[in-house]
Amino acid sequence: MLLTITYTGRGTSDLGYLLYKNPNRCPQAFDLTFGMAHVFYPEVTDGRTTAALLLDIDPLDLAKGKGGAEGLFDYVNDRPYVSSSFMSVAIAKVFGTAMTGRADAHQELSDSPLELSAEITMLPCNTDFAMLARVFGPLGYSVSFEARALDESFPEWGESRCVDLTLRGSVRLRDLLRHIYVLLPVFDRHKHYWVGDDEVDKLLRSGGEWLETHPERKFIVDRYLHRQRDLVGEYFARLNDGLEEPEEKPAREPGLNAKRLDAVLDALKASGARTVIDLGCGEGRLLSLLLRDGQFAKIAGTDVSQSSLKRASDRLRLETASERTDERVTLFQSSLTYKDRRIQGYDAASVMEVIEHLDAARLNVFERVLFGYAKPRVIVLTTPNRDYNAVYEKLTADEMRHGDHRFEWTRSEFSAWAEAVAARRGYKVAISGIGDVSAEYGSPTQMGVFELCE
Ligand code: SAH
Repeated sequence: MLLTITYTGRGTSDLGYLLYKNPNRCPQAFDLTFGMAHVFYPEVTDGRTTAALLLDIDPLDLAKGKGGAEGLFDYVNDRPYVSSSFMSVAIAKVFGTAMTGRADAHQELSDSPLELSAEITMLPCNTDFAMLARVFGPLGYSVSFEARALDESFPEWGESRCVDLTLRGSVRLRDLLRHIYVLLPVFDRHKHYWVGDDEVDKLLRSGGEWLETHPERKFIVDRYLHRQRDLVGEYFARLNDGLEEPEEKPAREPGLNAKRLDAVLDALKASGARTVIDLGCGEGRLLSLLLRDGQFAKIAGTDVSQSSLKRASDRLRLETASERTDERVTLFQSSLTYKDRRIQGYDAASVMEVIEHLDAARLNVFERVLFGYAKPRVIVLTTPNRDYNAVYEKLTADEMRHGDHRFEWTRSEFSAWAEAVAARRGYKVAISGIGDVSAEYGSPTQMGVFELCE
């Protein structure tokens, strides 16, 4: 994937100073844990200079989870070929100083609008193409894009969702970089890292003034934060303008998180379990409730995301915890699809709002690992109820609640899966709903409590 930035006018070779990348010392390579970034200048004349940022990503590394790639990519994935959140990370790493606007001897140039254009190849545009102009237009760009056929030999397959996007405008370089940095992941909704609280900081930092007054601000913030109501709410609360209190029904029921935690905690307590492992524990909300309850003598949390585990550890204050707490709680990185010896030996396991992040094709592996290999006496599992999405006005029929969800199940799909797994693995299952009840659509969350048959 490739991003080029072209500066036209007089003395354009100064672009090198602004980017802090010397055209005479290129190509330069940067190791970004998930792959290599290369910077070079295909064109340097007095009237026109182009800098290019090329990303070279190995899909196999991603599939192995290298470089914080949390989504557990398939071995065949599109990430090496599209301009996605990986490109945003690369921009911040390679052109970080330019993004701040600091330019030492060339400060005046850096502070001035320049005739710039950016070409972003293969931007996955998971929304109406018209949004490209509605989002970039108000920022002062003329926007053009080219969409290709998915495969020229099969015109009946239609158009690809990827476009080559060109932005042209008279803007400061730092603004161009910040716009691209924030907006790439708005169009491509598949972020490779888990969207948590620190994303709000990033958005406030890089969004700054231009986002505050943007007519499509709501769309941008919603998608940047993966429609996570609490994060979107936090963004607007911290902007402190109160203008954007959503008029539509919220994408999530307020308080649903708390109700879900209560329901899972109740089920674990009722099971009589003394030792519990929370798989996909995220930021450790359930763990902190378990910790406060004396019934649970041993508590473990696992997640595929190292940064979530760090946040869980902070939430539980493990670094300064007593020896007793230290002995009671363990956190470790693992995946629901690994046969990991460390997940064995617990009375109960909880899997809250995690399975929908797995590719459906991996559910059989998950089943084997948890129900076959770890085989705790009790398993409490929750997942969204897709039927209920009809209640959320903001979601269209084929949309999901979160950008990283790989599927959301209707009530009949969930119960079919749960019953079949229980039957295959020697468990019995009780299914219930969590949250407000709609007569027609049930509750927003569905829960299955599996008990091993004696
Ligand atoms: N259980 C927590 C977090 C749910 S969010 C809660 O209810 O608050 C989903 C979590 O699943 C994220 O923390 C994500 O990192 C994790 N996850 C995604 N795929 C995973 C996998 N294959 N194995 C383990 N955890 C995974």
